Amino acid sequence: MTKLTNLEAVEDLRRTITVPSGLYINGEVREAQSGKTIDLQAPRDGSVIGGIAAADEADVNDAVAAARLAFKSGVWSRIQPVERGRVMQRWADLIHAHRDELALLVALEMGKPISRARDVELRTTANTIRWFGELSDKLLDEAPRDRPETLALITREPVGVVAAITPWNFPLTLAAFKLGPALVAGNSVIVKPATQAPLSVLRLCELGTDAGLPAGVLQVITGSGGLAGSALASHPGVDTVTFTGSTDVGKELLACSSRSNAKPVWLELGGKSPNIIFPDAPDLDEAIDMAVWAITFNSGQMCTAGSRLVVHRDIADSVVDGVLERLDGLRRGDPLDPDTEFGPLSSERHRSDVLSEIRKGIEAGTRQIYGSGEAPDRPGWYIEPAVFVDVDPDSRLAQHEIFGPVLSVLTFKDETEALQIANNSSYGLGSAVWTADLGRAHRVARELDAGLVWVNCFEEGDSSVPFGGRKLSGHGVDRSIHALDKFTTIKTTWIAMPSA
Ligand code: NAP
Repeated sequence: MTKLTNLEAVEDLRRTITVPSGLYINGEVREAQSGKTIDLQAPRDGSVIGGIAAADEADVNDAVAAARLAFKSGVWSRIQPVERGRVMQRWADLIHAHRDELALLVALEMGKPISRARDVELRTTANTIRWFGELSDKLLDEAPRDRPETLALITREPVGVVAAITPWNFPLTLAAFKLGPALVAGNSVIVKPATQAPLSVLRLCELGTDAGLPAGVLQVITGSGGLAGSALASHPGVDTVTFTGSTDVGKELLACSSRSNAKPVWLELGGKSPNIIFPDAPDLDEAIDMAVWAITFNSGQMCTAGSRLVVHRDIADSVVDGVLERLDGLRRGDPLDPDTEFGPLSSERHRSDVLSEIRKGIEAGTRQIYGSGEAPDRPGWYIEPAVFVDVDPDSRLAQHEIFGPVLSVLTFKDETEALQIANNSSYGLGSAVWTADLGRAHRVARELDAGLVWVNCFEEGDSSVPFGGRKLSGHGVDRSIHALDKFTTIKTTWIAMPSA
């Protein structure tokens, strides 16, 4: 049942929902012990949509204690895997059934166009929880057979208490990428969502309780990263941290770990993805469509955004013309309008950072051929996409992650130069190459220094396929069976078996 047919229908739905506000600790909604709250502003018009509890160390201590108690009790960690799977599949059903409400919360809190939130973010979120739920009773341990008088059992055990610190750009999907594998493995999880986008995550976790997750197994701590996030990452009772966010904060979390219990810290960080187009791209129109999608979807606030368009010089003019034409056709507007494709940025501060990067590009003498570089005169944190051409591969525009709809176009003369430009980055997350030459596709894919390579496509993904980066984009992967490596620890048990 979908209600999101037009803006009036969305406003009707809005009147029926309750905006979550408290911490979610041990199966209860609570205020922060300090009583402090943080106001949330909607990117669509700057209005205050609610206040969330500002947790500090005292609340974190409570959540960690409840998580440990739940873990030790075995109420989740020791039940039959198939039972865990059933709860997770019920949860996925509830997420799907509540997708309009959850999409509305996402659109309100961080400004993602509501249709995109429902059709992309919610679909992936439900699919992720379902996929890991279905995996629950299909995970096998190992027992090597090469020593007749001893038996070695290699078993995977849950790590215990997991802290998941997540960003605002895909608040539900990126939380689900952590929750799916961490919970199916039997851990207790505490989520610290971004201050900009905690509402949808709070509701997601309430639905988890409705599905049957026991108290203490899944909790949400809201509040500032510097206080609540840091307290979690530094807590000796947290066994593993899984993080998606900026490279700077990722480094800070490593320091929190080294100052406390040396817990593993898994990092999914920023990116500056190159999108390479050769003249023999099998469908140049599609390559251009995707180049525009890659920098405008979610208003360019994507870790994998194709922010460096690396085009062969023979086709650069026609590719750029195609990009500008498509940008003109983007339906901009209110994220609550189901027709909107391109909404505002997530916050006033973030918009000011993005505009400042555009200004720096202009001041450095780089040619801007699209976008004014100024904030539109309307309430909310709207922005026009910006396109720069003839960008120097070493410049800030080509090196710095802007995390907004700012496209840098760089040109190359041959394959070697394309690879030099693409790999000239401290990041290594996404990358794409468009060519009909199979040999070249393989060569380039092999040489690209990135965790993800798309050939003649962009941003393909699936629950069964790993997602992750290298270099300053982080390490370890979300999605797929490999994500379980982060949330399990291997135990080896030797059993002597003397012959009879
Ligand atoms: P962020 O500023 O790094 O924040 C991410 C999370 O960390 C938030 O919950 C934040 O809380 C918290 N945090 C901030 N400072 C902290 C501290 N000192 N200790 C503990 N936690 C702290 O990132 P963002 O602005 O939300 O998201 C954008 C970044 O995420 C971009 O760099 C983007 O590339 C990256 N990202 C990466 C991936 C990937 O899969 N590789 C996916 C999406 C996004 P507050 O909100 O309260 O500050």
